[in-house]
Amino acid sequence: MTARKPAAELIHHAYQPPAGFVSPAAAVHKGSSIFFENVAALKRVRWADRDAYTYGLHGTPTTFALEARLATLEGAEHVLLAPSGLAALNLVNHSLLKSGDQLLIPDNVYGPSRNSARHELAAWGIAHAVYDPLTPADLAAKLTPATRLVWLEAPGSITLEFPDLLGLIAAVRAGAPQALIALDNTWGAGLAFDAFALGVDLTIHALTKYPSGGGDVLMGSVATRDRALFERLAATHGRSGFGVGANDVELVLRGLASLPLRYAAQDATARQVAAWAQQHPAVAQVLHPALPSSPGHGHWKQLCRAAAGLLTLRFQPGTPGARIEAAVDALRVFRLAWSWGGPVSLAVPYDLTHLRSVNRSEETVLRLAIGLEEPEVLIADLAQAFQGL
Ligand SMILES: *Cc1c(COP(=O)(O)O)cnc(C)c1O
Repeated sequence: MTARKPAAELIHHAYQPPAGFVSPAAAVHKGSSIFFENVAALKRVRWADRDAYTYGLHGTPTTFALEARLATLEGAEHVLLAPSGLAALNLVNHSLLKSGDQLLIPDNVYGPSRNSARHELAAWGIAHAVYDPLTPADLAAKLTPATRLVWLEAPGSITLEFPDLLGLIAAVRAGAPQALIALDNTWGAGLAFDAFALGVDLTIHALTKYPSGGGDVLMGSVATRDRALFERLAATHGRSGFGVGANDVELVLRGLASLPLRYAAQDATARQVAAWAQQHPAVAQVLHPALPSSPGHGHWKQLCRAAAGLLTLRFQPGTPGARIEAAVDALRVFRLAWSWGGPVSLAVPYDLTHLRSVNRSEETVLRLAIGLEEPEVLIADLAQAFQGL
């Protein structure tokens, strides 16, 4: 009698997804190991090819499905996934920069991106300069023969100035033809404007925000139309271990189906809240690209079909920061939390003192990220909280 070998029997039990099981959802394929038929097959595959599987870190049918859908949404050819939006930013920096190079970032760049330039990139001998996003001539003046990468962000983080993207891109092409142009397109989400039609080389997204839509997943992506650039990024991606989990990818795939509807709803509510805030006596200015009084509105109007769900309030000069913080503490529907794009409306007060180096300011502003609640509920919450202002 041969002894049973239950471990091997269970592990090698045949499994094929059932033929004819076609459902709306892409399957969640997991695997670190992916079996090869023979040594020749193992030697043949290249992990930068999206139609072959090598090792779970480099992709599964689930991650490739999300990459392909994001490429369609963005008007790109190639997409790589990263564990967060910040990891996507760093993937670009780490792939394209080396010691002696210079990087340019806008003054209103996503904050942790500036910190990464100040710390890791500086330690590796990569210099950075900060330009005024509303002045293409300032960007042009900061380009050097060592400039290899220029970041754009539209609109900028927190203060939401919408830059002259075409002017900035033209300045880079004229003054630093050796440099690549990367756009952080998280706000636009592939919906507000067509990033690649403007002439950028690559974009990144924090899928954490609108694409996921749930406030429950962290992920990022990098997109490009250029095969050679994609191969450079994919090589660093593979060497960095920037894999993503299949269950998280499933959440983003689910979220994508309702992305355009959620984006439109949050855009519409944000405009209603902005209109209400504009007439509140404690509010000096509402920063929202679709408002004519917001910096860069003309550029937004020229390029964009939509405006996302973010707005930032500036209060009357002299309003103490502590008074603004007390108003934030009085909010009941808006929750105090980082990030945006989920169902819950969020509020964060920002002291701009250490967040800007070109256009310095010591003001405290309030960034509102609109969720999916009814607009009148959000307006009533702000009205009661602002009574103390
Ligand atoms: C949130 C955000 C990121 C970073 O995304 P995470 O997934 O939170 O790391 C990058 N850029 C912009 C503009 C963002 O809003």
